[in-house]
Formats: sequence, C-alpha cells, structure tokens
Amino acid sequence: MTPRPDCPPPAPPWHAQPAEQALAALDSRPQGLTAAQAAQRLAQHGPNRLQAAPRRSAWLRLLLQFHNVLLYVMLAAAVVTAFLGHWVDTGVLLAAVLVNAAIGFVQEGKAESALDAIRAMLSPHAVVLRDGQRQEIDAADLVPGDVVLLASGDRVPADLRLLQVKELRCDESALTGESVPVDKHIEGVAAEAPLGDRRGMAYAGTLVAYGQATGLVVATARDTEIGRIDRLLADVASTSTPLLRQIDHFGHRMAGVILGLAALTFVLGVWLRGHPAADMFMLVVALVASAIPEGLPAIMTITLALGVQRMARRQAIVRRLPAVETLGSVTVICSDKTGTLTRNEMTVQRVVCAGLDVAVSGAGYLPEGRFQVGAQVIDPDRHEALALALRAGVLCNDARMALDDQGQWHVVGDPTEGALLVAGHKAGLLQEVAAVAWPRSDSIPFESQHRFMATAHRDDAGTPWIFAKGAPEKMLDICDREWGPQGERPVDVDTWRRMATDMAARGLRLLGLACKRAAPAGQGLAFADVAQGYTLLALVGIADPPRDEAVRAVAQCHAAGIRVKMITGDHGETARAIGAQLAIGTGKPAVTGAELELMDDAELQRVALEVDVFARASPEHKLRLVQALQRHGQVVAMTGDGVNDAPALKCADVGVAMGGKGTEAAKEAGDVVLADDNFATIAAAVHEGRAVYDNIRKFILFMLPTNGGEALVVIAAILFQLTLPMTPAQVLWINMATSCTLGLALAFEPAEPGIMQRPPRPPQEVLISGLFIWRVLLVSVLMMAAALGLFLWELAQGTELAVARTMAVSTIVLAEMGYLLSSRLVLAPAFSREAPNGNWVLVWTLLACLLLQLGFVHLSVLQSIFGSAALDAAQWAKVALAGGVVFLGAELDKWRARRAAQRR
Ligand code: ADP
Ligand code: MG
Repeated sequence: MTPRPDCPPPAPPWHAQPAEQALAALDSRPQGLTAAQAAQRLAQHGPNRLQAAPRRSAWLRLLLQFHNVLLYVMLAAAVVTAFLGHWVDTGVLLAAVLVNAAIGFVQEGKAESALDAIRAMLSPHAVVLRDGQRQEIDAADLVPGDVVLLASGDRVPADLRLLQVKELRCDESALTGESVPVDKHIEGVAAEAPLGDRRGMAYAGTLVAYGQATGLVVATARDTEIGRIDRLLADVASTSTPLLRQIDHFGHRMAGVILGLAALTFVLGVWLRGHPAADMFMLVVALVASAIPEGLPAIMTITLALGVQRMARRQAIVRRLPAVETLGSVTVICSDKTGTLTRNEMTVQRVVCAGLDVAVSGAGYLPEGRFQVGAQVIDPDRHEALALALRAGVLCNDARMALDDQGQWHVVGDPTEGALLVAGHKAGLLQEVAAVAWPRSDSIPFESQHRFMATAHRDDAGTPWIFAKGAPEKMLDICDREWGPQGERPVDVDTWRRMATDMAARGLRLLGLACKRAAPAGQGLAFADVAQGYTLLALVGIADPPRDEAVRAVAQCHAAGIRVKMITGDHGETARAIGAQLAIGTGKPAVTGAELELMDDAELQRVALEVDVFARASPEHKLRLVQALQRHGQVVAMTGDGVNDAPALKCADVGVAMGGKGTEAAKEAGDVVLADDNFATIAAAVHEGRAVYDNIRKFILFMLPTNGGEALVVIAAILFQLTLPMTPAQVLWINMATSCTLGLALAFEPAEPGIMQRPPRPPQEVLISGLFIWRVLLVSVLMMAAALGLFLWELAQGTELAVARTMAVSTIVLAEMGYLLSSRLVLAPAFSREAPNGNWVLVWTLLACLLLQLGFVHLSVLQSIFGSAALDAAQWAKVALAGGVVFLGAELDKWRARRAAQRR
C-alpha cells in the first residue's frame, strides 16, 4: 500500500533501526507521548482498528433467503399455476414466498446484530505510557509514537519496535504460522530479515507467551503487518451449534419425507380417487408448504441469539454460540477463588515479624488504620523489621492507588499489591516518596507460575537491595535468616510454618516478604538472584472475603444439581477457610497441586470427583482436573485468566475467561467472557442457557404438531374421499398467518421459575424423545379431528361450503393459538404459578394472529381472495369450542406426563 505523506517510511525499516533512532523518528520519548500529542495523532492517523471483514450485503442476504427447498417448491408451483391460469393461487403463492423470505431476512438480521454487539464488547485494551503515567486505553486509540507495555498473555495491539524486554517470547503463529514462541530482544536486525527473524519487533495480532516488554508503536491499523494481509483476529468463531446442526439435519430429512409423501398423495388423489390433476397439484403444494418446518433454523438462531443478548445483559459475553446450549447442561463448575468467588478488595489485617504479631485496623482501600499489638497501638517506625517489611511491600510492587471521581480509592493493578500500598500508607510510607528515595533498577514481576515477585533497588546511601515477596513456602525456601528485634538471626522455619497455618486457617491470603543486601549478579535481575541468601522480614495476612452474591450463586448451583469446585493458587488452609464460607468443600482439607502431581490417573479421577477445593494449583493442574472430570462424563465449566490457563479453557466444555483481570490469551481461548469477573455471573449464564434450551424444545414441540395437524386434515380428506375442508389457498393462509409468527413468540419466553431447581440435562439427551413423538402425534390428530369434525358436521347440517371451510380454517388457527399457550410450559399447567410472566411478544403475536383471522373471515378483500365467508356469533362459538379441544387435550397430556414423572 502507498505510505502516507505524513508518515514517511524510515530510511532503514523499523526493525533495522536502533530503538533510540526509532523514538526520535516518531518524535516520541521513553516516557511516552503527551495526551495532546496522542489526540492530534489520532485525528491524523485514525483509529487503530482493522475494518471488519466485508459483510454479505443486505441484497445478497435477501437473495439467499430464496435459496431454500420450500421456496423452490412454491416458486415452481407459482409458475405452474400461472401457466394454468389460476391467478389467485399464483398470487397467494408468491405472497407466501415473499412473506417467508422477508421473515427469514429480518430474523437473520437480528441474529447478526446480536453477534455484532458481542464483537464490540470484546474490544481489546492496551497499557500505554501517556504524560509519563501508565494508563489502560482502548487499543483502538493507539497512535504511532505511543509507548506500550506488554505482559504475558497480551495480544500485541499494534506493530512495536521493542525498547525494553524481559524474557519476552511471542507466539507469532497468527502472522508467520510458526507455533513455537520466538525470543525477542531489542537490537536491530538486518534490513532484509524476514518477518519471523525481526527479533526487535513485536507485531500486532501476535501473542505474548511469556515475559514483559515496552515497545514503541510504529504502525497501527492497516499499516501493521497483519493489516497488510488483511486478516481479522479474535472473531466470534462459529455461528452454528451442535444442536442447530442436529435440527438442520432433521429439518432436511423431514423435508425429504414430506416431499415423498406429497408425491404419493398426488398419485393417490389423481389415479385412485380421480381428482383433477390441476386441483391435486395445488393441494399438494399447499400440503408441502404447511408441513415443511421452514421457520425452524431461523427461529432456532433467534432463540440462541436472544439467549446471548440476555446473557450479555447479565455480564456474560458469549464468544462461541454453542456455549449457550452447553451452559444449560453443565454439571461441574470449576472456579478461581481470588476475585471471582471473593471480592478482590484486599486489606492487610495482620503482619507477623519474628517475635512481633501486629494487627492492622481499617477496611477496604481507605488508607486509615492503626497498627496494634494486642490492645496497644504501636508506631511501626520503631520496629525495624516491621518498618522494613512495609517498605519492601511498597517497593516490590507494580500496583498504584488512585482516587476516582467519587473520591474513593481504588487499585490500578493487582489488588494483592494494592493492599500492601495501603498498609504502607497507614504507616505514613507513601509509594511516590519511597520509590524516589529507593529507586528501582529492575524487577521480576509476579507470575502465578513461580508465585513470587522481586525488585532491585538502591537506598539513599547507595546500598543495593533486592526485595522479594511471594507465597510463604517459596520465601522460606530462599531465606536462611530472619529479621528479629535484635537484628538478623537464623530463621526458625517451624514457627513461621505454624504462624502461616494459623493465619491461613482464618481465611487470610498469605504473603511472605524478604530482603537481601546485594545487587543482581548479572546485568539485570534474574531468577538466579532470587534463589538463596535472603532474610525473612514478615508474613502478611490479607483479608479477601467472599462476595455475598457468590455465596448465593453457589447455593443456587447446588440446588440445580451442579457441583462447584474451587481451584486456587492460594495456601491450602486459606482455600479451605474461604471454601467453608462459600459452602464449597464443607471444610474438608484441600488437595494441593503437588499432591495432584503424585497421583496416578485412577486416583486423580476419584479425587477430581470427590474433592471440591484445590490449592496451590497451577494451570497444568486445571487441565488435568478438567480431563479427569470429563472422563467421568461430567460437563465442565472452567474459569481462567492467565496465558497458561488457555489450554484448560479450551479443553473445558465451557471455558469461562475473566473479562476484567483476564489476559487476551485467556479471553480468546474462552467460550464465555465474564465482564465483571464474578462467579454469580456464571450461575446466571447457566440459568439463561437452560432457558434457551427449554425455549428451543418448546418451539419444536409447538411447531411439529401444528404443521402435522394442517397436513393431516388435507391427507385425511383425500384418503377418505371427502369434500376438501380447505382450499389450497386457505392452507397457505394458515401457514402464513400462524406458523412463522406464533412460534417466534416462544423464543422470547423467560425462564420458568423452577429452572434452577432441577438437575442438569443429560448431555446425551436427544431432543426428539418419546414424550415428544407422542405429543406431536396426539396434538396433530386432535387438530385434525377438531377441524375436520366440525367441517363435516356443519356440512351435514346443510351449512354452505364456503362457511364450513372458513370454520375449519378458523378452528385450526384458534387451536394453534391455544396450543401456543400450552406450549409455554413443557410439563406444568399453562395457567399455573410456574408460568413466567412478562412475555409481551407472546401477547402481541396472539393479538396479531387473532386480528388477521378476523380479517380473513370478515374483510371482503380477503374473502374474495381466499374464498372465505363471514361467520356469525354462534359459528364463532363453535369454532372456539373446537379449537379449545386441542388446548384441553395438550393440558390433559401434560397432566398425565406429570403423574408418570411422579410415579418414577
Ligand atoms: P489465586 O489467584 O488463585 O489466588 P495466585 O496465583 O494469584 O492465586 O497467588 C498464589 C500465591 O502467590 C498467593 O497465595 C500469594 O502468596 C502469592 N502472590 C499472589 N499475588 C502476588 C504478588 N502480586 N506478588 C507476590 N506474590 C503474590
Ligand atoms: Mg491471582
């Protein structure tokens, strides 16, 4: 593509330039752009967003609606009828074709806009330096010259010239197809180096597999490498689901059967019964039109899409449509603890140094509280170990505290680290001051994998220090001394272990703080610098209480027959204590990741099923647990946030990624993204998933017998050589007035109230079960009997043919309306407490259908088209009675099914 005049390509390409030169070329600095510069460049370069893949145009979509067996049949029939000169029939057929196509078009449009909304919700974010401050912004707002911070799990938001790297490895498979992550550095490479060898660059769309980095944005949007090859990432993957496919397949088979039957009816009618071929032809076409479930796939998609929208309103964003139905059959939910089951508003409550046990008062992030030993308030500065521990906590820290618009403190970064900043603040140690006095030269950030973080500093006297914080076991491993009241002394491991267990048993999250007076051995801080020779400063106990709504949601899941398991990186005792508060695991000891590793497959499978709390677990353990549970036939939902959680998320039946704290890698691997990181949202999504499946079932249960009934009337009339109770045009009328409109209402049904009190649906359950077949037969036959019976009776009474036919048609329409009311609940009575209220779509469709039918009977225009005739009150009453028979029959059948279910 042609370069823009305002952004000339650099003389050597970006990957061949030294980093400083690239900074200068883009008029940027390591501290990033100013807000004003960024705004100006954004106006100049436009948003950093790839154009969505060209959509099928509306016209094409409309045209595609006609690509459908039923419409082919009807169009062919229209041609034939026109040929025969039956203009009214031709008109009705064409109208029916148009109505069908229009409905399909609108329905599909609705489904697409629902998917669009999902795409918008998943827009990626980027962390940049602007005005020297770290900020999280929409990746679309990035401009050339911006300085971006990368961490493991991030999707690289634009093409970057790397300025600083820390063990950075990028998965560039999206761009180069190479699946092994590539090591990155900051040196320039030869100008002619191929894409995969440009180690000093990170390219938009690739994934940070490990490490951290800072990079300078050199190209955005279409100017990026991925923009050049014009490929869109992170698209909502599939738009079909197993159930949809199953139904589609079923629909096709049914269409085949119906066409066969229709041909047979034609042959029978013409040769055996001697009807004129032209009349029979029209009738058969009408039969096909009424019997083929043409609305099936569209209404199915709408039901799913509506489910997706309802879930989105409840903060669960569905990335893959099949997840909607799988959610409905989930039997086990494996959840992270921190931030998902707990509030993630952490507060340091206890600091234990050697020989000093300090309680810290205060709640939340408000930096007000006191340090107390027993009842006595102390000054932390007077206790060397405590003061140094607080300093270590503030310095070895990547979070930042900020005041929001309402004057509330909140954390930017990891809440665990935020808690340490607040504790320091309570002792008068401000992050800004501490960071200037003891400047940091390098760091190893926290990763769940190794469970610690370390930073290197120099104090005001120039002495080098390394501070480390992390899981207590890890800290005890690297410490050979502790900081007592009289200075350093050999570490008393047993006492620390006892203290740790004691604090964890109260549900506190534990962190050890340690220090070493040394500089990194090599150029920067490396893992070898955090292996030994440390002095333990303190154990910190951090409160992170369960969310109230999570407690309720867990109870709800249990009532719904769903096991909830907690998998956390935290200490076993902490996990057990928090689990007990949430009614997970009921206080039984937690199984740790190390224990899981020692188990063979058989034992793992047993433990995976029986134990509910897993502690000190890493992402690999999650994967093994999912697999073990699946081998038991469980349908597993698994949460995750880190880059290493991706395999477990992919493997799970429903991968649930955290939208807030989750990495891009996790979000892309997940089927569902929780916008609020809240466990209660998973329960809500399950609830909606069950409702969606119910509605699909209800719709099929409604549609099959109504189509069947219409067809049966015609077939019976031909078989028994009766006067036809409906003309072909009238059959088409019924089809137009009811089958598409009425059934759609069921897609809008809210969940039945008892939906979370029943066990999960067995995953192998077939949709069209025995109950279904029986109900379909029963209702079809009842409908046929009601309409045909009334028709024949009226004829016997000497009623005019046109009137009798109008009564038959109206009976069918009213019967369908009644049956729709009955179909709202699969088993419970239509007008019971179980009936959910608030489905206005249902009310409107019923009203619309009734008005249409009144028009059919009483409007002279429609009378002349369809050959209908006006009915008087008595005749309407008879129609209502006959129609009511179907409703009663269906309700009686439900009653029978309920009794049968009770006896079982
Ligand atoms: P989870 O998210 O399940 O609670 P993590 O992997 O975040 O588990 O944490 C595991 C352990 O690592 C914690 O119990 C704590 O001791 C330690 N830890 C957590 N966050 C940090 C951090 N920012 N710096 C150092 N250590 C941490
Ligand atoms: Mg964590």
